[in-house]
Amino acid sequence: MNKIEVIGQDIVLNYLKEIVKNKKVGSSFLFSGSKGIGKTTCALWLAQILNCKDKNPPCGKCLSCIKIYNKNHPDLTIIEPISNFIKIDQIRDFQKEIYYKPYLNNYKIYIIKDAHKLIEEAQNCMLKTLEEPPDASIIILIAEIESSLLPTVISRCQKINFAKIIPQDIKDYLINKYQAADSNLDLLINLSKGSLGKTQKFLQNPNLLKMRAKILDLILNIPNLNLFNIIELSNKLEEYKDNLEYMLEILLSWFRDLILLKYNLTDYIINKDKILELKEQMNFYSLWQINKAINLILEFKINFYRNINLRLLLQNILIKLMEL
Ligand SMILES: [Zn+2]
Repeated sequence: MNKIEVIGQDIVLNYLKEIVKNKKVGSSFLFSGSKGIGKTTCALWLAQILNCKDKNPPCGKCLSCIKIYNKNHPDLTIIEPISNFIKIDQIRDFQKEIYYKPYLNNYKIYIIKDAHKLIEEAQNCMLKTLEEPPDASIIILIAEIESSLLPTVISRCQKINFAKIIPQDIKDYLINKYQAADSNLDLLINLSKGSLGKTQKFLQNPNLLKMRAKILDLILNIPNLNLFNIIELSNKLEEYKDNLEYMLEILLSWFRDLILLKYNLTDYIINKDKILELKEQMNFYSLWQINKAINLILEFKINFYRNINLRLLLQNILIKLMEL
C-alpha cells in the first residue's frame, strides 16, 4: 500500500480533508511546528488526496498515489536547503517551472522544506509567486522557526500549526511498525519531545546518545571551565555540526528540566536518567540564570540559521554560559 501515513495529527488531517471536500484549498500554506512531527509527511498526504481520483482519497493504489509516495511524481517538487540554506537561484528555478500546466493530475505541488532556511533575498523573490499564484499550483512552506520568515511571506500563506505528538502514540507506532524494543525507548521519546522523526533518528543513530553524554558532561563542568578549555571544546563540538539541532535540543532540555525541578514538577522532566546530576546543578543556578541560559541557546539557534561562523558562536555561547 502506497498510502502516506501521518501519525498523531488527526486535527490537522481532518481540517485539510474538510477544505479539500469543500474545494476551499488555498494556493499557499505554511506548515509550522517542531522538527519530525509530521509536517512534510502531511504535505505529501495532501498532495495525494488532491491528486487521487478515488472516492475516498488517498487510495494508495492509483498511479498518482504511487508516484507521490515514491516522490517521483512529475507534478511534485520538493525544494530543500543546499549547504544549510535555500538560495535565490533555487526559488528562481521553481518560479520558471510553476507556470507550466500539471502533467498528470489536477495540481502541481511544491513543498519547500526547512523554509526557515530561505535566505532573505529568496523570500523576497518568492513574494511575487505567493501574491499571484498560477492556477492549479499549491505551495507548502514547511518551517520550524517562523521568526526567520518575513512577515510578508507569512501573511500570504494559510498557516497551519502542528502540535507535538503524544508520547504514547509515538511508542505504539514504533512498537507496531518496527517492533522497536530499545531499552532506551522511553528516554528517546522524552528527548524527542513529541517528535516521531527525532525518535526514529535517535533509534537509528546511536552516536546521538554518545553526543548527549558528552554535552551533559560539558554542562556539568561549565562552572570549572577556563578560556583555554572553551576554545578546545568548541573545536570538538564543531564535529557535531550536522547534528547541531540535536545538540541544541539536548542543551535546552537540560535547562528546561532545571526549571521544572525548581518547581518540583519531576514528572515532566525529560532527562529522568540524570535526576541526581540535575538536582545537584539546580542548587547552583538561580531561576533567573537558567532563563538566561535558555535565551542564550535560543539566540544561538537563530544566529546559526543566519550563517554566522559556527566555531565563534560556540565559543561565544560557552563563555556566556560560564559567566551566568
Ligand atoms: Zn489514489
